[in-house]
Amino acid sequence: MTRLILATRNTGKIAELRAILGDAGLPHELVGTDAYPEIPDVKETGVTFAENALLKAHALARATGLPAIADDSGLCVDVLGGAPGIFSARWAGRHGDDQANLNLLLAQLADVPDEHRTAHFACAAALALPDGTERVVEGRLRGTLRHKPAGTNGFGYDPILQPEGETRTCAELSPEEKNAISHRGKAFRALVPVVRELLG
Ligand code: IMP
Repeated sequence: MTRLILATRNTGKIAELRAILGDAGLPHELVGTDAYPEIPDVKETGVTFAENALLKAHALARATGLPAIADDSGLCVDVLGGAPGIFSARWAGRHGDDQANLNLLLAQLADVPDEHRTAHFACAAALALPDGTERVVEGRLRGTLRHKPAGTNGFGYDPILQPEGETRTCAELSPEEKNAISHRGKAFRALVPVVRELLG
């Protein structure tokens, strides 16, 4: 059985990809970076989600000698020309301050009417092999941005993104409902044929 490593310490993310690979009948064992504590974090110096996902996947494949998967994601707001985009996690300045990021974005969009509040979550998922072979796939979740947050599930910008065809925000969906339609779920499912092609 081939061991695959996913560039995350988030157990929810590992479980999500493990279930997708398992449902597709792929026998690979998936582990997270917790299994390799000596590996340093990679600087995300790319300017697209795909570049950052590839940077992380290549670094991890080189360091472990294993096929490695990495993802990078964010929120892209049409009226802001795709921002926050790759800066989503640090839009208000401090990395990972979800509340400040969301508040700043809502303030920036305060005067933007409903018809111009379209946005999408984007996720790039990359697979890199130790020999340098690489593939990258993408997934999107389109929707509109609310004026006020609603819901307590999820993280980041979930309380303000209402997916197309939904009356609830992402933070009002159950984790299963969100995974079924999410950008990350779509990108991870798009990896299945790639894993099959490169790893059998
Ligand atoms: P990362 O790729 O997991 O580092 O996510 C980057 C940032 O994008 C997060 O900190 C969030 O601000 C935002 N983001 C990515 N995916 C989601 C999502 O599914 N819901 C809400 N925010 C997200």
